[in-house]
Parts: sequence; structure tokens; C-alpha cells
Amino acid sequence: MNVMYVFCPLCGARLADEVKFGRTRRFCRACGFIHFADPKVAVAGLVSDGARVLLVRRAAVPRVGYWALPAGYMDADELPEEAVVREIEEETGIVVAVNGLHGIAPLAGWSERRGILIVFRAAPRGGELAACDDVSDARWFAPAELPWAELAFESTAQFLRDWLDSLK
Ligand SMILES: [Zn+2]
Repeated sequence: MNVMYVFCPLCGARLADEVKFGRTRRFCRACGFIHFADPKVAVAGLVSDGARVLLVRRAAVPRVGYWALPAGYMDADELPEEAVVREIEEETGIVVAVNGLHGIAPLAGWSERRGILIVFRAAPRGGELAACDDVSDARWFAPAELPWAELAFESTAQFLRDWLDSLK
């Protein structure tokens, strides 16, 4: 997802292509602005309550109707752990405590080069389960109930397999 800006967002002058910090980037000769095409950063929660894990049914593109970990984009002024707590509560109503890093995956897939997904382990500590925001359902799954055929992303399956291994 390369955005090709035409005009400088700071001063409005026309941008040029120049090599800056090792590769060609959009550059403003009037004010010095450099456009860095940064990756998107998203966060997800592997929320477990004993041997149950919390999944959401996606209502937003991509993969509408498929099950995924509660997740969303991190804002620039958030810490990753703050973002994942916010996203889980927005989508499921569940307030969690973050217990550590679970893993990192590409957003959607490495071939799309959209950015990275940081997955944290978390445990519920309050709230009421309810599907909100951009999900159509949110529920707890025991290992035998996991919807393998309806998972949104390959990384979702890998993270769930890692979680199942951790239960043994
Ligand atoms: Zn400028």
C-alpha cells in the first residue's frame, strides 16, 4: 500500500522523488519534508480464560464473517499494550490484563506487505461479553469447539495452535 503524495502535507509545495536515507522517497524541496511510507501496525489479543479462548467474527473487510482474534490498528500515540486492551474492549466488551508477547505476524499476509500484527497474551479481568464495534459476534471457544474451517487468516490458526500447545 504505497501512497504517492503529490503535494507536501506541511507547506503545499509539489513533492519530488529524491534518494533520502537509502532509497527514493517523496521529498519537499521547499520545507524539507520527507514522506516515509511506514508499515501499518496492528495489535491482537490471544485472550484466554483457562482453557477457553476469545474469538470475534469479523464484520469489516477483509474476511467478513470469519473468526479472528480481537484486533485493530494501533494509534501513533499509544503503546502496543494500551492499544490491544482498547481494541479488545471495543470489540468484545471484555476488559483484559496483558500477560506478555505471544507472537508477530504479517497483516493479512507477507505477500501483501501491509504491515505487522503484534499479538499479546491476555486474560479477562472484567467487562461483559458483547459483540461491538466492527465484529458481528464474540464468544469463548473451548479447544474442541475452535472453528478451524472458518478462521480469517493463516496466522490466526498458527496462533491458536501455539496456544493449544501451551495448554499441554
Ligand atoms: Zn513542504
